[in-house]
Amino acid sequence: MTSTIATVSLPDGELIPKLGQGTWEMGEQPARRAAEIAALRAGVELGMTLIDTAEMYGDGATESLLGEALAGLRERVFLVSKVYPHNAGRRAMEAACEQSLKRLKTDHLDLYLLHWPGSVPLAETVEGFEALRRAGKIRHWGVSNFDMDDMEELIATPGGDACATNQILYNVARRGPEFDLLPWLADHKMPAMSYSPVDHARLPKRSRLDEIADARGVSVFQVALAWVLLQPQVFAIPKAGSVEHVRDNHRALELRLTVDERAAIDAFFRPPRSKRPLEML
Ligand code: NAP
Repeated sequence: MTSTIATVSLPDGELIPKLGQGTWEMGEQPARRAAEIAALRAGVELGMTLIDTAEMYGDGATESLLGEALAGLRERVFLVSKVYPHNAGRRAMEAACEQSLKRLKTDHLDLYLLHWPGSVPLAETVEGFEALRRAGKIRHWGVSNFDMDDMEELIATPGGDACATNQILYNVARRGPEFDLLPWLADHKMPAMSYSPVDHARLPKRSRLDEIADARGVSVFQVALAWVLLQPQVFAIPKAGSVEHVRDNHRALELRLTVDERAAIDAFFRPPRSKRPLEML
């Protein structure tokens, strides 16, 4: 059953689902392959149609698995991949994108991101993205792991204001971006993509999240995801390697945290009062 999932808006007004799926570490263990494919397909059926991957993951093996998982489903998916910083020059990017498209068995990406800031000048990277866009190989482009200074540099670069999003480490235990980066992105009408929204399954044990989860009879993952999904103009891409975990994450959409629960979370995971450098996983 496909359900309607809340959306966020890209700067050009295109709506994308607030809850999608990540793929890091998928496609690396043959014994897990069938379960991972089933998980991704179940997620699409549930409406979690935004899927994030990267050329880096499994050295291309993750994109290959995703290409297989999306057989017959590609048209329903908003497909995101990421280019290595060392491939972010115009020529290298064209070749890297071609390889990603081949592995993903598609002729275009919906969004192509620079995986993290590197040494190729941003002007060249923006030119490379725009050339791919003109060629119909990508529909939107954006960045990842860009802190405030990186975003300021990007926006000052010719064409840099066409950036659609910044994919960042943001979850209930890593709230630094609330101080400056999230407001800056909101001011520029760019939604933030929360990666590791359940902190790569390393959320602190015996925290307020567990108390809320126990009291509500839900999983701690659902509480953490419900919290991220409360944040305006933020969308999340949890990775789940089984249908059971995908369904669990999808149910986070139904979990409405109360004012008291949110206050208890704020008391435990304090919002930032000063600049914290952007963390990366
Ligand atoms: P995550 O989504 O926060 O956590 C994934 C981990 O949580 C996995 O071990 C997964 O286990 C477990 N999990 C998820 N839902 C669960 C549930 N309902 N019940 C129990 N366990 C659950 O971490 P992530 O994979 O680091 O981040 C998500 C995606 O963001 C990545 O897959 C990737 O696409 C992207 N990412 C981007 C960057 C970047 O630099 N741009 C960095 C990191 C991640 P199972 O696999 O067993 O389900």
